[in-house]
Amino acid sequence: MIPSTGHAKPLPVIDRHNRTYWEGTREHELRLLACDDCNHIRYQTFSTCPHCGSDRRHWICASGNGTVWSWTRFHKTYFPGFATDMPYVVVVIELDEGPKLFANMVDMRVPPKIGTRVKAVFEAVTDDVTLVKFKPA
Ligand SMILES: [Zn+2]
Repeated sequence: MIPSTGHAKPLPVIDRHNRTYWEGTREHELRLLACDDCNHIRYQTFSTCPHCGSDRRHWICASGNGTVWSWTRFHKTYFPGFATDMPYVVVVIELDEGPKLFANMVDMRVPPKIGTRVKAVFEAVTDDVTLVKFKPA
């Protein structure tokens, strides 16, 4: 589906659970949830901690530093908005704070080596959505 924003790639649905995360990316901050009881840090905006089950949490600002943990290269166009990017690389980044997330590398069609150190960069794609991507550190 192509949203009315003119951005032809899929966009996240911003809701009350993830709004703080997306407000952070607009300010070029990578915000994560930290458990008040066991200090487990998570990328997902679950209301409860997947480690201990606590619902007490607070937001932290991650460093944006991480390591390429895995990658794949897409050769099939699942979304028309990616047609001019083909083939494109999707990476799994393990942040220094622990969580892993899927992302794209900036201007990279050749897969990075596993273990490559990376730094988050922020790309505003609509007025509401700024995506987190990564580039070699
Ligand atoms: Zn916990």
